[in-house]
Amino acid sequence: MDPALGPPDAMAEKRDELTPMMRQYHDLCARYDDALVLFQVGDFYETFCGAAERTARLLEVTLTSREDSTGEYPMTGIPVDNAESYVEELLEAGYRVAVADQIEEPGESPGVVERAVTRVITPGTLTEDELLAGDDNNFVAALARGDGDGDDEELAVALLDVSTGDFLATSSSSREAIADEVSRFAPSEAVVGPDASDDPLPEDCMVTPFNPDAFALERATETVSGYFGEPEALLAADAEVRACGALLEYAEYARGGAESDADAGASDRGARLDYLTHLTRYDPREYLLLDAVALRSLELFEPRAVRAREDATLIGVLDETASALGGRALRDWLRRPLLEPDRIEARLDAVEELTGSVRTREHLHELLRDVYDLERLIGRISRERANARDLRSLRDTLAVVPEIRELLADADCNRLRELHEDLDPLADVRELIDDAVVADPPIEITEGGIVAEGYDADLDDLRGTARDGKQWIDDLEARERERTGIDSLKVGYNSVHGYYIEVTNPNLEAVPEDYQRRQTLKNSERFVTPELKDREDEIVGAEERADELEYELFCEVRSAVANEVERVQALADALATVDALVSLATAAAQYDYCRPEIRDRDADLEIDVEGGRHPVVERTQESFVPNGAVLSPDRRLAVITGPNMSGKSTYMRQLAQIVLLAQVGSFVPAESARISPVDRIFTRVGASDDIAGGRSTFMVEMDELATILREADERSLVLLDEVGRGTSTADGLAIAQAITEHLHDEVGAPTLFATHHHPLTELADYLEAAFTLHFEVEQREGEVVFHHEIAPGAATGSYGVEVATAAGVPAAVVERSRELVAENADESALDGPDPQSGPPGRADESHVPASTDGGSQGLPDDVASELRSLELAHLTPVEALTELDRLQRLLEE
Ligand code: ADP
Repeated sequence: MDPALGPPDAMAEKRDELTPMMRQYHDLCARYDDALVLFQVGDFYETFCGAAERTARLLEVTLTSREDSTGEYPMTGIPVDNAESYVEELLEAGYRVAVADQIEEPGESPGVVERAVTRVITPGTLTEDELLAGDDNNFVAALARGDGDGDDEELAVALLDVSTGDFLATSSSSREAIADEVSRFAPSEAVVGPDASDDPLPEDCMVTPFNPDAFALERATETVSGYFGEPEALLAADAEVRACGALLEYAEYARGGAESDADAGASDRGARLDYLTHLTRYDPREYLLLDAVALRSLELFEPRAVRAREDATLIGVLDETASALGGRALRDWLRRPLLEPDRIEARLDAVEELTGSVRTREHLHELLRDVYDLERLIGRISRERANARDLRSLRDTLAVVPEIRELLADADCNRLRELHEDLDPLADVRELIDDAVVADPPIEITEGGIVAEGYDADLDDLRGTARDGKQWIDDLEARERERTGIDSLKVGYNSVHGYYIEVTNPNLEAVPEDYQRRQTLKNSERFVTPELKDREDEIVGAEERADELEYELFCEVRSAVANEVERVQALADALATVDALVSLATAAAQYDYCRPEIRDRDADLEIDVEGGRHPVVERTQESFVPNGAVLSPDRRLAVITGPNMSGKSTYMRQLAQIVLLAQVGSFVPAESARISPVDRIFTRVGASDDIAGGRSTFMVEMDELATILREADERSLVLLDEVGRGTSTADGLAIAQAITEHLHDEVGAPTLFATHHHPLTELADYLEAAFTLHFEVEQREGEVVFHHEIAPGAATGSYGVEVATAAGVPAAVVERSRELVAENADESALDGPDPQSGPPGRADESHVPASTDGGSQGLPDDVASELRSLELAHLTPVEALTELDRLQRLLEE
């Protein structure tokens, strides 16, 4: 157990003897024993003992100690005022943080100051703007199973963004399907129940075991009902109810709740989160499925190459959003591309219209920049964490809505017209804030200066009293000078004695009867009068009461606004959609994309792209060569050859990205595109060549391939790049061939298959729907020139050997290499069945081209076999040279 967590041993031993404050600390640590407790003592959050030592080291703050009658305890404090950056470091170090605040003023009641955990901050439950990325969601997940009695194998995942209120759930009997949904939303934390050992969770996700009772069906049903009504109407499986119920309870727990701590033990529940108004149950099959491998290799959110620029991603190219709301919406669209042509076309119509009207688009973008993060704002308002500035931010956003709305008033397409309707400017809310809250309020909400003049008669009275009192005092000096004839008489104020009248020593004789001496200074005396004291009390009293009243009024206004949570969320949604559409239109116009034509889902699957480009690569280099692609049921398997670096993998990925973008409802980087929506994109692309989780490249590859073979169907798009690279050439070829045959014969998925194994192009001779494409390179004056141009047919030429020449490998060696290549080519011709002779029993035949233990051609066996297994096209010239040099030496031995 981490010594920073749970009650410190030194305290646990003698809990009952501890001072009341330390007992309070001990008990909070015991109650929040998976979190590091930050214990407010005045201006500092303190930690003690093990936690103190740990935080001192982590945060590089001084370790001190606190001594009382029961002993000495190591102690570390961080300032309450800028705790956020410290909390961030604690989270990064893997801690959950329980913030125990003083919830009453010291001295307010006898005994120790009351404290309560007001929030538990964990990676998945952050609400602090400073700790969150504005334009991305931050999800906490909960996973749960069905009854667990073996009959109901459903696994469910619920996902909640506590900061925005986005709440989703789904379930499936396939563990993999849930794993894919989890990777899609990349939660930063997962709440798990008792039987979680097999839960599919990403590595960088904090796992939080949570109260098993919260997952129990009955209790979860009750929890969900408390928010959304009967779960039956909303959710599809018991597992979903359990996951949602537990997640809601966890969110409540993380929110903390002063009430529940006051009678600790009675209930563990935190306070409700009223802004959770929608729970969306979805079926993963409603969206284009992208598993973790596809997300990575298609560079949706993370660049593929480690060294690549951070924005070398699809989102980096497309994100022209002006608001955090729009940024998150766009990410969600990319994460979940659509399948239904109608829904896709609705977005495309809007994008097209906005692409065409530059001025509207730019004007919208301009206005959207003034839109605050309404989702998080209303969350804060609802959690009673918003200050007056937050309300003004809401008001300022509402102020731009009418203009945004107006710009969409004459829209042609349905989607934009709907948005026009949905953009409710919430005039009543805006008016309320305008009336109640001053334009530039202070951060503090307890010190007055917030509520506008004229909003509340009582407040105005109090302020009037204070003002009159002050005026009376302002006038006092002149009045008293006249009354006493002392010209040097002064009225002043200090914080200890309040208002006073000061008379210098030479004038003391003129002091009237009613002056009462308060203070004697060297050259003067200070006096008060009963009337002055009365006035002063009146002013101070009025000001104090005004501050209190302001706070009350502010809370009333805040909760009135919180009552409108659903309308604010609906508005946020509409604004987010407008922003995301404008962003897609901006990218389309800026990068010269075209509107894809979307084919019916019941028609044959066809993909026809002319002049396609890779959206990310074309942004990162000076020029890009467009290439087309045509796939249809009878031409569905393309075997693509070409040497290393000729453009194979770029070509394949660009096609998949074009399809994906089309299904997002985006324009695409092409001259024209006709696209049938696909259900799923599978990729087995070089990206995961990096050893993943300690498994060998080959294992990773086979794992990915197994998934593809198991799960792909005729509505999947499959990309295979250099399959079989992780093993010896012969095995690799055999596997690649078998896989391709299977995909062709059994799966029927449109497939792009890139290989430098030349013999594989012969697959196209006997697989009906297979065809070949290639990238040619040119030798020019010893230089290798890449044209990056796709052409029909198989590649010619043994490029590796050319490169060896170019690198200056001795002529004799190159000559010998040519001979060997020729011999290998003879041997490795695939003896596939004659295409005319009908479906063959290929499994029995050997399609393996070169045997590794084959006879010698005048070379020692070991050298011959090493030469054979050299993947020339994959070697750099220098590597080729080194290899040849080594082999030459072997021959000389
Ligand atoms: P391969 O998969 O054949 O090894 P890649 O697809 O990785 O080759 O391409 C290698 C490099 O060539 C890319 O990083 C890119 O810079 C460039 N490239 C690829 N395709 C094109 C193209 N169509 N136009 C311009 N440059 C390209």
